[in-house]
Amino acid sequence: MIEVQDIKKSSLAENPVIAQMTLNNHEQVLFCNDNDTGLKAIIAIHNTVLGPSLGGTRMWPYNNEMEALTDALRLSRGMTYKSAAAGLNLGGGKAVIIGDSKTQKNETMMRRFGKFVNSLSGKYITAEDVGVNTKDMEYIKMETDYVSGLPLNMGGSGDPSPVTAYGVYLSMKASAKEKWGNDSLSGKKIVVQGIGNVGENLVKHLVKEGAKVSIYDINEERLQLVAKETGAAVIADPKGIFDMDMDIYAPCALGAVLNTDTIGRLKCSIVCGAANNQLAEETVHGKMIMEKGIIYAPDFVVNSGGIINVFYELQGYNRERAMAHAEKIYQTTLNIFKISKEQNIPTYMAANRIAEKRIADIGKVKLTF
Ligand code: NAD
Repeated sequence: MIEVQDIKKSSLAENPVIAQMTLNNHEQVLFCNDNDTGLKAIIAIHNTVLGPSLGGTRMWPYNNEMEALTDALRLSRGMTYKSAAAGLNLGGGKAVIIGDSKTQKNETMMRRFGKFVNSLSGKYITAEDVGVNTKDMEYIKMETDYVSGLPLNMGGSGDPSPVTAYGVYLSMKASAKEKWGNDSLSGKKIVVQGIGNVGENLVKHLVKEGAKVSIYDINEERLQLVAKETGAAVIADPKGIFDMDMDIYAPCALGAVLNTDTIGRLKCSIVCGAANNQLAEETVHGKMIMEKGIIYAPDFVVNSGGIINVFYELQGYNRERAMAHAEKIYQTTLNIFKISKEQNIPTYMAANRIAEKRIADIGKVKLTF
């Protein structure tokens, strides 16, 4: 028999699957194959202490199976932390389908995938992610009820962006309270980079509160439209965003925007935005931004309104309840800053500790009966 310790000692090349799972204690991985439809998928379940694992399905042309497995393991773990920090009774899971979503996806493949999701009997609940759209969810839903984040016309909760944006706004107010002792954003110079579904809703909250908002988006048409609608100023020189005179930087487009170069240039007091995975390298740049004296509100807490919205879809959707839960993001953000200061650790690490504590605490409750 192979002992776990032996597996840990040997290389990942020799033991690429279970050994990888032991690194972050993943519970289960389901490998799915179907020659007829061409489906090749991996469903990774990181942790189900708090509840069923939930996370989207991503379709991507991975270069090899290891890359796909690594992505599924990384993303599913991220979902565990996001849901736990948001105080939800959800675990973390994620699925990846290996292939090109533009050329290889079809109804039969998606329905076959739905069958695999169903075979887990609710231990994994899927949703949309990169390369998988509403139409695909419709196909998956034909084969399983373990689907969430559906549009309104499919009986779902619809676009989560207003709830996400509200959470970002509250996190920003909590960050302001931490920095200036007062959570008003009135008069603060705020740069919002990316004014898509979340960014636009965020800008509306900020303008209403009297902030001086500047916006940028690579989509020129959208940029002009949102500027006209909200009265926000358009940033003319996007290359200079990180050098701008601002109080708060809100990244609401892509990930990995906080790197050695950009952190070096930023002159703001707070970074708080919706984009996922903002720190290019969590350990390096989480520490660097702390040492620069910039308050960084951890992305997966800031943008947890989206997962909160999806969670309430599982309960029989009610937007007011979802919004009420999203309000807790304010206090969670303040708690993160408190732990960060008390333990002298970067804020992303403090957020991880909050998530780990909830899993440990609730784990004890479950073990007592
Ligand atoms: P979206 O696609 O609607 O908007 C993204 C916007 O960013 C687009 O308008 C795009 O043109 C713009 N953009 C892309 N690259 C840019 C660049 N380099 N500079 C400036 N603008 C750029 O996406 P969204 O739903 O608004 O989500 C925004 C971010 O928040 C994403 O990172 C997403 O993963 C994250 N997020 C969203 C939700 C949600 O509820 N929608 C929940 C959690 C996290």
